[in-house]
Amino acid sequence: MACLYYQLAIGRAERGCDPDQQRRAHGADSGCSEPPTTLLKEVTRFASLACSAVYQEREEECQRVAASLGWHTIVAELDSHPEKPAFALFASPIQAQGAKEVVLAIRGTKTLHDLVTDIRVAPITFPLDVTAVSGDEGEGEDGEDASRDAYWMKVDSDNGTYACGGMARASEWLFSQMYPLLADLHSQGYQVVVVGHSLGASVAALVTVLLQQKLPLTSPTELRAYGYSCPNCCCVGLASQLEEHMVSVVLGDDFVCRLSPSSVQSQLRHLEKHRHEAYGQLEHDWDSLVQRATELWKPKHRVHSVGEETGGVSVVMSSLLGKRDWVEKGEAEEPMMDRELVEIWIPGRILHIYYHHGVSRVAEVPRGHPSLRSLALQGTMLSDHFARNVLSALKAVQLVHQAPDTPPVWTPFDARDTCQRCANAFSWHSTFTSETSEARARHNCRNCGDLVCGPCSAHRQAIPRLGLSEPARVCIKCHLQGSSTVLVRSGDGADD
Ligand SMILES: [Zn+2]
Ligand SMILES: [Zn+2]
Repeated sequence: MACLYYQLAIGRAERGCDPDQQRRAHGADSGCSEPPTTLLKEVTRFASLACSAVYQEREEECQRVAASLGWHTIVAELDSHPEKPAFALFASPIQAQGAKEVVLAIRGTKTLHDLVTDIRVAPITFPLDVTAVSGDEGEGEDGEDASRDAYWMKVDSDNGTYACGGMARASEWLFSQMYPLLADLHSQGYQVVVVGHSLGASVAALVTVLLQQKLPLTSPTELRAYGYSCPNCCCVGLASQLEEHMVSVVLGDDFVCRLSPSSVQSQLRHLEKHRHEAYGQLEHDWDSLVQRATELWKPKHRVHSVGEETGGVSVVMSSLLGKRDWVEKGEAEEPMMDRELVEIWIPGRILHIYYHHGVSRVAEVPRGHPSLRSLALQGTMLSDHFARNVLSALKAVQLVHQAPDTPPVWTPFDARDTCQRCANAFSWHSTFTSETSEARARHNCRNCGDLVCGPCSAHRQAIPRLGLSEPARVCIKCHLQGSSTVLVRSGDGADD
């Protein structure tokens, strides 16, 4: 646990030292592109059904939310069972203008714990053998669990496509329930849209594979799928086959979207290597705590170190990140049991929402984009998976896009060792002074980009000129001077 805590600090420091890294990683050089606005609008429109309506506790609530968005609820089945996910079917009103649409929305697993368990179920051939599905009904599958890790080493589908077992079976079940109705509506001119969040997104993808095979389609728009926070769930063959119909959205550092046998394995190995380093840092903080405890009656004093500091290099940051390099390069990566791990992928086209200088941006990224293939240990790796955060990020991306100003240049974490407002060491107010704690005490003001300590950035406010409608961290100067003064700042170019 301690190890994870320090890894998170190092992850944060890495980002902080190179504030443009995310932007570069999502540039054209990395095979990324800006998605068309129309696509973004579509993705946002269906997000409310996948991330909100179908997550309601009761059917009436689901119906109410859908109605407020202009959808009729045809079916809502919100009780889920193992491999039988909750779902709802919505349709555009008969008198609606434009294309008629029917939307199958599939709910994700409600707890992260379940999700991780679900994802670990070994891959099986997909689409399933129909005879195998009916034969496998019932409780007899638990025996597989004991040796499920071994299953990742091989795929018993030499002939081609595969998908994660639990999700594959869930989608076969849902397809069998809904196909007659969907086929009927399709024949009446309805476009079929399948959406889902989290586990629901992977089931949506696999249901779409089945519909793709069965529905008499005359154009790709007749069958579309939108997956939010979709985990890696199928082979590369199915993933690319879905590109014509499906768009997957990944928010920030969401760890669920990055779970795969190989990413988990390399992360575990990484954590194991960092253990000793983490304990060193923990010991340092423990010493500081003891020290502080013996001096409790003394007021916490500030150590002023104003002077040559302008634009120098932070000793603390380079030392911390230097250790990371040592750990990574110093020991050879032993291949362990990498032999035949089955790779699984996010289906369809992929939109990645990332943060750059405090605002949300979106890029269409290739499936093998490095940032999606390894687990990023960042403070937001859990919260970026939550349905409500995906919804607000999609809205934020559009607000930022329409905003009159671009965000300020951020001072990198390693450019200074003192706060740009009060000129104290960043952790002056904190009991802990290890390098990792120092790293955690650095913050960029969302309004001016300066590097400031916690107490100098205690205020939060919306910054409409940047498209930030939610309260964001601002430094004390920006807070006191107000946004109109700050608008001028972009012209004074003091630091750059
Ligand atoms: Zn300060
Ligand atoms: Zn500021």
